[in-house]
Amino acid sequence: MSKLLKADIAIFGAGIAGLWTLARLLQAGYSAVLFEKEAIGGIQTIASQGIIHGGTKYALTGSINKSAQSIADMPEIWRNALAGRGELDLRGTRLLAEHQHLWSSQSMLSRMTGFFASKAMRSKMQQLNGSERPLLFQNPAFKGALYQLNEPVLDVASLVQRLTELCGDHIFKLGEEAEITADGCHFGDITLNTKQLIFAAGKANATLLQQVGQQRPEMQLRPLHMVMLRGKLPALHAHALGTSANPRLTITSYPLADGQQVWNLGGEIAELGNGRSQEEQIEAGKEILAELLPWLDQQQLQWATYRVDRAEIKTTAGRRPDDCFVEQNESVITIWPTKLAFAPRVAQEVLTLLDQSNIQPEMQDLSPLQALGRPPQAKLPWQRAESWS
Ligand SMILES: Cc1cc2nc3c(=O)[nH]c(=O)nc-3n(C[C@H](O)[C@H](O)[C@H](O)COP(=O)(O)OP(=O)(O)OC[C@H]3O[C@@H](n4cnc5c(N)ncnc54)[C@H](O)[C@@H]3O)c2cc1C
Repeated sequence: MSKLLKADIAIFGAGIAGLWTLARLLQAGYSAVLFEKEAIGGIQTIASQGIIHGGTKYALTGSINKSAQSIADMPEIWRNALAGRGELDLRGTRLLAEHQHLWSSQSMLSRMTGFFASKAMRSKMQQLNGSERPLLFQNPAFKGALYQLNEPVLDVASLVQRLTELCGDHIFKLGEEAEITADGCHFGDITLNTKQLIFAAGKANATLLQQVGQQRPEMQLRPLHMVMLRGKLPALHAHALGTSANPRLTITSYPLADGQQVWNLGGEIAELGNGRSQEEQIEAGKEILAELLPWLDQQQLQWATYRVDRAEIKTTAGRRPDDCFVEQNESVITIWPTKLAFAPRVAQEVLTLLDQSNIQPEMQDLSPLQALGRPPQAKLPWQRAESWS
């Protein structure tokens, strides 16, 4: 027998944007559900480096630009949530590092000394010397300068786990048979009518928009080819400063159960690596580490890579967006957070739009949706990698 259900909101996509938004909507009393096609934790989210940016990296061009301003509040919002004092209680999420580091050669820094000493930057970063530095940078071969940035790094898997707990049994598997229309979804004999759809499906937003007959907003993709290495490595969360705002290398690390660490290499190397094969990209990883950290022993390390596209609102000339993107077009809200760190802002903007559209929370019985089942939790890139060499 066919069933007709009603919900205030259906979200598509269980990456950071969908999960954070669902948790806020449930907290506000909306009857909200989330449908996920693959795994809880998303595609970009679980592949990300977990850095809660505060804009310092973007200010490195020498001026506090728009990107730096819009993201400046994020670390504090996240720190409050992690301590159980924020809009969501994220206690239980593992912090991999309280701070990140930034290092550069002496010649590069001498050109930017005035900037580093400026008042705007002093509050965001401090120079570390001698034994204050991470052990790797206490090596006498290191001749540059090293700064500590006041921006934390999270274990994304534990963040996803905690958000999943907050979302309770409101997350469902979206099967191939599902049909999405502007006023809801149909799954076999179940029809779900909704007041608002939220597309938070990363690069699949383009397909979802087509399915409901919308041509806009338009999306851009930025393909990344990340490098991973594992072995007896120290924990390190650091950016190597080059000549552009994008660091030459961004290293984050993750402790494995056997005491080894995985280093995840992003930044410029990942953007330039799109056209390279896995072997070529690993070679590029070895070369850049030999250049930037020549005293690091590369013997006994294993290497792998992974590819992932960043999905964002389309910008002029494909440059990276300065901010997160949330737009409502009739019964559809489309989200591209641009960054993990922007998740709180995205959810807040959704709540504001619902309020302005006069969509009021109503309780509904959605228990028949349990028949759809639940998607699995997403795996971290180094747990998925098939070939290490
Ligand atoms: C390598 C890398 C490193 C990064 N590092 C950082 C960082 O350190 N700090 C930071 O702030 N940001 C970082 N980012 C950016 C950040 O990860 C992304 O902006 C953010 O995770 C995007 O989240 P999302 O929820 O929009 O998308 P996703 O995480 O991609 O989730 C989309 C979800 O939608 C699902 N889906 C697809 N089709 C459908 C459908 N038809 N119906 C339902 N669900 C569907 C997918 O399976 C997926 O689960 C990084 C990104 C990458 C790629």
